[in-house]
Amino acid sequence: MVTSLNEDNESVTVEWIENGDTKGKEIDLESIFALNPDVAPEEEIPQSPETPPPPVSSAIKINKIPQNKVFTVGTTRARPSQQTEPPPSAPVPPPPIQHQTLLQQQNGTSHSFLCVSAARRKSNCVKEVEKLQEKREKRRLQQQELREKRAQEVDATTPNYEILCMIRDFRASLDYRPLTTADLIEDHRICVCVRTRPLNKKELTVKDLDVITIPSKDVVMVHEPKQKVDLTRYLENQTFRFDYAFDDTSTNEMVYRFTARPLVETIFERGMATCFAYGQTGSGKTHTMGGDFSGKNQDCSKGIYALAARDVFLMLKKPNYKKLDLQVYATFFEIYSGKVFDLLNRKAKLRVLEDGKQQVQVVGLQEREVKCTEDVLKLIEMGNSCRTSGQTSANAHSSRSHAVFQIILRRRGKMHGKFSLIDLAGNERGADTSSADRQTRLEGAEINKSLLALKECIRALGRNKPHTPFRASKLTQVLRDSFIGENSRTCMIATISPGMASCENTLNTLRYANRVKELSIDPIAVMEGRSAGHSVNQLDVLEAQWGVGSSPQRDDLKLLCEQNEEEVSPQLFNFHEVVSQLVEMEEQVLEDHRAVFQESIRWLEDEKVLLEMTEEVDYDVESYATQLEQILDQKIDVLTELRDKVKSFRSALQEEEQASKQINPKRPRAL
Ligand code: ADP
Ligand code: MG
Repeated sequence: MVTSLNEDNESVTVEWIENGDTKGKEIDLESIFALNPDVAPEEEIPQSPETPPPPVSSAIKINKIPQNKVFTVGTTRARPSQQTEPPPSAPVPPPPIQHQTLLQQQNGTSHSFLCVSAARRKSNCVKEVEKLQEKREKRRLQQQELREKRAQEVDATTPNYEILCMIRDFRASLDYRPLTTADLIEDHRICVCVRTRPLNKKELTVKDLDVITIPSKDVVMVHEPKQKVDLTRYLENQTFRFDYAFDDTSTNEMVYRFTARPLVETIFERGMATCFAYGQTGSGKTHTMGGDFSGKNQDCSKGIYALAARDVFLMLKKPNYKKLDLQVYATFFEIYSGKVFDLLNRKAKLRVLEDGKQQVQVVGLQEREVKCTEDVLKLIEMGNSCRTSGQTSANAHSSRSHAVFQIILRRRGKMHGKFSLIDLAGNERGADTSSADRQTRLEGAEINKSLLALKECIRALGRNKPHTPFRASKLTQVLRDSFIGENSRTCMIATISPGMASCENTLNTLRYANRVKELSIDPIAVMEGRSAGHSVNQLDVLEAQWGVGSSPQRDDLKLLCEQNEEEVSPQLFNFHEVVSQLVEMEEQVLEDHRAVFQESIRWLEDEKVLLEMTEEVDYDVESYATQLEQILDQKIDVLTELRDKVKSFRSALQEEEQASKQINPKRPRAL
């Protein structure tokens, strides 16, 4: 497009767009007329403005001027306005608005190619040119800056740009029918659902893509980017179905409505209920169970713990339940590395005991009576601050421990019903079993084991199977009474992070959740399929191969590993064995040490008496010697026993280290 006529040097200024950039140059009129005789004036001066528009081909001819050494020629491409990000092949900014307008004018009105006005005075013309040149320079600089800035951003976005487009196209083809409050709340004994959250600030900063689509009330899709051998990228769309799927716009209230709320009634009907949040660290478990965080403060009134408590107090007022005269209690504890800590009692370490009738007890667990939702909120706050005190971040500790919040209904002191709400440890931690750090390995082993055991316990609930490997982990042992009985119901909320970077963990979470439910959908087929798999002979082989000793814990561990052969290699099983042994031994060593410590105080007192006796003028030497010998013999016996125990404990520690090195690094993936 000709933007001005420069009379002083008999040239015109032309501009065009090339690859989205505005380019321009001056061309002397002589060259133009030589190439475009049809627009050449008869005289030396240009024609009047009424000169008819030249054919389009003339533009091409101008572009082909031989001395055109400053600019290369390209085609002008107008891009759709809704496109906000540049394609990877052409990382260039959109042309400035001003120029788009020019283009539109040109297109819309078929403006003449040579917009030449002979009537203009020279001075005006020169001024115009100068202004234009100035503007152009400014524009160029701006564009340069923008280009540089974009180039930096484009580096990060380019690799995923095509993936983003593919996901967009895919989504555009979908017919969305998300879950609404009008949807029916179904009655499930086992309910498994999934919830995704929005991309968070951190993910947005690194331009992570949202690869999760929830098209309907029970379907979740993961768009997993893959690469062919020829390096072209494509999407593998994996689809999972659950009882409910909550998209990133769902509120806690909405999730609660379909998951935990139906379980409140269960505990009034003398039943047991459990609700688990399962997923990778950072996927939204605590947000769902404990409540929204606004900055550093958690609004626990918006979490499922509090929502459930609110409804418990509402239900209490119903005539049917009011007459039962029920009391409400709450407990809050965490399980970390197979040990139980009371969050309502300054994290006191508690022992878990099982009596002859297989009743599991957490000894000394504080059960606080609560009269209203406010009381419950106070307890949750107290427990939360206790849970995270001394931690660098809320997630640093919570990713490695399970938090259990319980609402207990009692009638004249006797248990009527119990609702356990559990914010599980981050499932990616289950893969830490081959870490170089012992503490991390032991934590990882416990998490791996407890999540596998949890899955089996829920499956068993669906099948009314008599023996469940609940003793294989502290979590399932403590929750045992909730998994048995006719009137037990459970719900699992699998929380997922939507980012592409979390894809693998997300798929692991969904597969796990799928196994929990899948098996309860068709219990008969599952039972036949599974139990037929192990003949007595096979069990013998497993026993020989894995050398299993017998204790209730180990039997359950063995059962658990058999049920999960695909995930648990013999090496990992061996590791779990060694770790269980280690944990048992640690408990014993500590207990014995405490006893010896107490005993030592008594010895000291006895010795003191003995020594005082020798101060007497006529003390009984015979008696003194006999008594001292007795004390020393006792001491030696007791200390030798403790020393031997410590020795074997130390070798168990070494064994653990060896066993952890045997684990094939590929096998123990996140659960
Ligand atoms: P987890 O307990 O699984 O490790 P969190 O619940 O702590 O994860 O969530 C990680 C972060 O994501 C928190 O900052 C939390 O506020 C935010 N978040 C989680 N779920 C949602 C959601 N549904 N909507 C908005 N923010 C969320
Ligand atoms: Mg958490």
